[in-house]
Amino acid sequence: MRIPFLSFSPQHDPLRADILAAIAAVYDKQWYVLGDQVREFEAAYARFNEVQHCVGVANGLDALHLALEALQVGPSDEVLVPSNTYIATWLAVSFVGATPVPVEPNPATYNLDPARLEAAVTPRTKGIMPVHLYGQACEMGPILALAQKHGLWVVEDNAQSQGAQWEGNLTGSFGDVNATSFYPGKNLGALGDAGAVTSNRADLATRIQTLRNYGSQRKYYNEIIGHNSRLDELQAAVLSVKLPHLLSWTQQRQEVARQYHKQLAGIGDLVLPAVAPGATHVYHLYVIRTRHRDALQQYLTEQGVGTLIHYPIPPHRQQAYAHLQIPAGAYPIAEELAATSLSLPMWPGMQPNDVTIVADAVRSFFASW
Ligand SMILES: *Cc1c(COP(=O)(O)O)cnc(C)c1O
Repeated sequence: MRIPFLSFSPQHDPLRADILAAIAAVYDKQWYVLGDQVREFEAAYARFNEVQHCVGVANGLDALHLALEALQVGPSDEVLVPSNTYIATWLAVSFVGATPVPVEPNPATYNLDPARLEAAVTPRTKGIMPVHLYGQACEMGPILALAQKHGLWVVEDNAQSQGAQWEGNLTGSFGDVNATSFYPGKNLGALGDAGAVTSNRADLATRIQTLRNYGSQRKYYNEIIGHNSRLDELQAAVLSVKLPHLLSWTQQRQEVARQYHKQLAGIGDLVLPAVAPGATHVYHLYVIRTRHRDALQQYLTEQGVGTLIHYPIPPHRQQAYAHLQIPAGAYPIAEELAATSLSLPMWPGMQPNDVTIVADAVRSFFASW
């Protein structure tokens, strides 16, 4: 590959000594589970996200799952979820026995369309899970207003959008309790699996602290039926080294996006990312759309440019959700996005020359089409 889809080098090379020293410190201290590293990272991430509480867990999917368990969501409950999201959002709803009810996105922003939410509310609806997809904040004002009107809780899926804002407030700070992921490729990534919940509600944060550790606050006293889903000390140590750089990495992603916008404007039938008024975008992914997606992807591969599709099959069309018996065509916006979206290379520190190579390859594809 001339240009890979993602490179960690600009993030990790300059921090190599600091990260290895942080790992060595845990190694030497010989306290490997739920110690100072987890506590310090939780405090630092809560400050970063401008919330009262952060609880580290094993991964982003568990963060979503434990959030719903803490809210005591259960069978016969319905939860409004985006029709276009990574399947994790839906799986968390299924784990607690509730039913995910898809709501179509705004076709311009790809995020949950607040205007479509109300029609999906039934007497069984308990909550809404907005996903700040690709790194753009959802329109949280109208979403929160609708939640309040119908007495629903809100759980944000903030896995792709650490540091994004809606009208000056950070994603991950709006909902009752919110989930994020530190999967390596996320905007803040560990060297393995890691995740967290963020919340301003002490009751929910405490319950998740209990749930993540065998339902126990005091060793060998189990209050509730819990899980083993603890953030690892080693990963917390790594994340604490990386967190102070997240703002600068976000600015670098936004600069790469600006260059893509400039160089890709007006080519073929390309649709470039659009940011809603009031929202910011932290470009976890730079997703373009074209009717010729599959041919473009193949051409870019031949040119040595790595791309991915987020996501090729919407959750309601996955075999895992066949039991919902949702027919093809039921959520046409999600299905259209799955057929036309392509994620271009994007990482903090990607050089202007790399962006130009990608943009030139895209342009030459459409010139020969
Ligand atoms: C990555 C991701 C998750 C899950 O995170 P893991 O840490 O991989 O479990 C959930 N939701 C969205 C939108 C994601 O992108």
